[in-house]
Amino acid sequence: MNYLPVFVNLRSKFVLVVGGGIVSERKIQLLLKAGAKVNVLSDNLSPNLILLKEQNKIIWINDKFHEKYLKKIYLVIAATNNEILNQKIFEIANKKFILVNVVDDLEKCSFIFPSIVDRSPIIVAVSSSGTAPVLSRLIREKIEAILPFKLGNVANLAGKLRNTVKNFFLNCSDRRYFWEKIFNGSFVNYVLHNNLKLAIQNFYSEMKNDSTLHGELILVGAGPGDLGLLTLRGFQVLQQADVVLYDYLIQRDMLNLVRRDAQCICVGKRVNDKKSWNQKDINNLIVELVMKGKKVVRLKGGDSFIFGRGGEELEAIKKIGGNFQVVPGVTAAIGAASYAGIPLTHRQYSQNLFFVNAYSHDFSNVIACLSLSKLSYTIVIYMGRTKCELIVTTLNNHSFSIKTPIAVISQGTTMKQQVLIGTLSNLVELINQSTSPTILIIGKVVYFHDKLKWFNDINK
Ligand code: SAH
Repeated sequence: MNYLPVFVNLRSKFVLVVGGGIVSERKIQLLLKAGAKVNVLSDNLSPNLILLKEQNKIIWINDKFHEKYLKKIYLVIAATNNEILNQKIFEIANKKFILVNVVDDLEKCSFIFPSIVDRSPIIVAVSSSGTAPVLSRLIREKIEAILPFKLGNVANLAGKLRNTVKNFFLNCSDRRYFWEKIFNGSFVNYVLHNNLKLAIQNFYSEMKNDSTLHGELILVGAGPGDLGLLTLRGFQVLQQADVVLYDYLIQRDMLNLVRRDAQCICVGKRVNDKKSWNQKDINNLIVELVMKGKKVVRLKGGDSFIFGRGGEELEAIKKIGGNFQVVPGVTAAIGAASYAGIPLTHRQYSQNLFFVNAYSHDFSNVIACLSLSKLSYTIVIYMGRTKCELIVTTLNNHSFSIKTPIAVISQGTTMKQQVLIGTLSNLVELINQSTSPTILIIGKVVYFHDKLKWFNDINK
């Protein structure tokens, strides 16, 4: 971290701005908003600054810079186009331990101004540490778009109710749960629509309901790899979790999205891995944590209900009468096919879609049924790597042509995605060239990859 973001209280503090032009104006507006007493040192003032002077909002010192003007000054901004003068101001201020910012000269700044989203008292500051100001501005614009204009009113009202909550919930995590519920519920909408009466009613009724708080299990589908495929809802609940239980398929970067003081535990299962967790132990751990009142996020690759045993974990919680929610995710078939430019259905070539698990006892029966049908279809095979010889034999035995088109996609949607197109005749070879995890797509639609591939192309 090149800079430590802090919010400085400038109320009634003296600050000095050297320079009276348009650049100064922008900084002065900000300083005035923060309640600072602004001295402007310059031999002339822009029309807007003259106006501020006439309104007694700034103090104009019509003189050349001199060290004496730094007396009792908390921070100084040099906004002149005289490089020698800027350098001098920087050096003197540093010697006196006064915070200094020479506008547009990073080397001569002991602090920098971030891009700001102002929903006072909520303030969001974004900075690229001076490396890419346009990028931080674009990020700011995105945040501007998602934060309601009157969000400050929500924070103000919550501030007034804070003591009430403190006295009602003695335990710190009970208070946090309560506030999360309030900020995720109707309270916010009522305030945003200026209906304070209903907001306060909602607040007290939630308070009564929540005097005994329960733990909860939230199954979250993390998507197949690309962090951007986590849903907004998935992101929100990661921010609320006390404990996150995750699998090997989860990208480590995703754990950075978890609330900082939450506990993250890997409960991954892998064939032939001694440290591997079994499903019973995972279920027991979930039940134990939920019974202790924890909000447990179970983060699973893809979607929890597609070959993810999510249902079994919910059943375990249901058995003890616990609370749960499910947040869907993008399953590997959908994610990998999209990023490979393979439309899984197509009016001409494939009207039906089957997701098949190569480990299933029914695998050979499923293939037998499909081979007998007159349907046009695509088959997506999950967990096919270690079963590839079985897949080839089974398809051969059920009269699939050796020319049947197959795509082997490994590490789909990640920067390491690899797409290999072949046929049943060279499937084993292709799988040997690929890395785990791997998904197989069988059907004519795989030929679209050549025409519609986009992901590796842009990332090469
Ligand atoms: N619940 C998961 C599937 C778990 S089974 C989902 O909905 O996606 C694990 C299998 O998913 C792997 O063996 C592999 O076949 C497939 N898989 C998961 N992530 C993948 C990825 N990024 N690329 C290719 N296949 C993937």
